[in-house]
Amino acid sequence: MAAARSSTRRSVAWTSSSKSSPPKGAKSKAVKSKVTPAKGAKSNVAKSKASPAKTAKSKAVKSKVAKSPPKPAKTVKSKAAKSKVALPAEVNDRSVSGAAVVGLPTVRRPRQVIPQALMERLISIGMAGGADFAEVYAEHVTTTALVLDEGVVRSANVNESAGVGVRVVKGVQVGYAYSDDLEPATLLRTAQTAALVARGTGEPPPVQVSRRALPEHYRINDSASDVSLARKLEMLRRADAAARACDARIRQVSASWVDSSKSVNVASSRGHYAEDLQEMCRINVGTVAFGEGGERRTGSYGGGGRVPFGHFESFRPEAVAAESARQAVSMLGAVEAPAGPSTVVLAPGWSGVLLHEAVGHGLEADFIRKGTSLFAGKLGEKVASELVTVIDDGTVAQGRGSLNMDDEGNPAQRKVLIENGILKGYLYDDLNARLMGAQTTGSGRRESFRHAPLPRMTNTFLAPGQHDPGEIVRSVSKGLYAANFGGGQVDITNGNFVFEVSEAYLIEDGRITRPVRGATLIGVGPVALRNVSMVGNDPRHDPGLGTCGKDGQSVPVGVGLPTVRIDDITVGGTRMG
Ligand SMILES: [Zn+2]
Repeated sequence: MAAARSSTRRSVAWTSSSKSSPPKGAKSKAVKSKVTPAKGAKSNVAKSKASPAKTAKSKAVKSKVAKSPPKPAKTVKSKAAKSKVALPAEVNDRSVSGAAVVGLPTVRRPRQVIPQALMERLISIGMAGGADFAEVYAEHVTTTALVLDEGVVRSANVNESAGVGVRVVKGVQVGYAYSDDLEPATLLRTAQTAALVARGTGEPPPVQVSRRALPEHYRINDSASDVSLARKLEMLRRADAAARACDARIRQVSASWVDSSKSVNVASSRGHYAEDLQEMCRINVGTVAFGEGGERRTGSYGGGGRVPFGHFESFRPEAVAAESARQAVSMLGAVEAPAGPSTVVLAPGWSGVLLHEAVGHGLEADFIRKGTSLFAGKLGEKVASELVTVIDDGTVAQGRGSLNMDDEGNPAQRKVLIENGILKGYLYDDLNARLMGAQTTGSGRRESFRHAPLPRMTNTFLAPGQHDPGEIVRSVSKGLYAANFGGGQVDITNGNFVFEVSEAYLIEDGRITRPVRGATLIGVGPVALRNVSMVGNDPRHDPGLGTCGKDGQSVPVGVGLPTVRIDDITVGGTRMG
């Protein structure tokens, strides 16, 4: 067996600062461990977006709605030595874009992060104390993140990180330990730490794993990871110029780019080995429109997914910028939101975030097993209007939430969770499925090797209905049209949700009229589901910009919805109406 590579961590941070600072302290080699009972029942999803601009109002942190500039996945914020260097002047210069190195169109393969024989040895150590199950998760990630703020490169980061997590399960006890040092001796200690949960003594049993075949939902032969920083920066400059050209009132623009390439290897005591290469990229444009009397309105739009770089030839930076600018300008002159019960029409696409919060989290098996979700014990019961069919589908081609395999090495699935209003199923990871006598649905996900997996959503959407979207709007004499959401959160235990509607309009006599500001939607998940009275025939996925947070772990997700009418939902606003 060849020795494992020594740590491959590298980290370079470019900033527009001209100051150069030396790498920070030596890397830590400590093995970290924790026992992971799933805790709080709160969760949230946030649209990942560029910070619109400096003057944009900052949201209360306690709403858990992340509106920070896109940052490299948290996995790269390891204690890896970081060096900051001044941004080379030429990167800030349009002239270098022609010097971009164009990679040959090759399909990339996942890396073997540590040798398979070492993974088998770690599983064996994990099982030595009489555990029920042991698993090794190894990950290697490279991330590139660029922010162009007011036409100036504010930051350009290229990060690389790798690590291994070992999980040992005995009954309901979970031992989890991880290391970002890939030296075999360190990893053996990591496995011994995780195995402490079993507390037994015994000889490590022989373990052999064999490769598991997986489907492919995102074969990428034109990876953003192979594209030069200069070409990505050029896209941001095009977006910046396009946003300003849209309307003279757009006077602040922030554009950002993030791409990542993650190799995942998973092996377990069941004898499976599975690996996947998970690539992701996204562009975002934040804008601020200035109106009369110091009025300022923000817009934000973007998207991507597990897509090739060529995706941005059709999902063009100019179009992204124009949509962001349209949102900001549309909200100028907005009236205060009328508060109180109202009929609400949800615009198609990103409004699916409501479904994700109001329903999706409550169907995750950890909350079900502990009885903390109000959907627990309701399989086969009517929990929504018969117009409501909710699907979580990890197999959507190139979706932001799509997975060939989950982070336990199981193939992602298409799950019908609610069918015509009847509760049909839950989202299971392997551990909760086993404890509940069910089968995993390929829903075990984790933010990085530092975390044990949890049952999570992938791409969650509402199936289309019969109504024409125009007909739905015409059916409302007085109500609110929710065109765009900032983000929101739900309390799983009672289903209470709150959503910030970032772009909303009054509906008056069947027509969309004046923009309103400061609107929130407040409700209880199952009640809102029962109050769905019309579902459009215009299904739409969001453009690829959602990040879901749960127990401190962020994972990319997709959402989707056709135009939907919900009766009697509470609008929180600033004006009684
Ligand atoms: Zn979420």
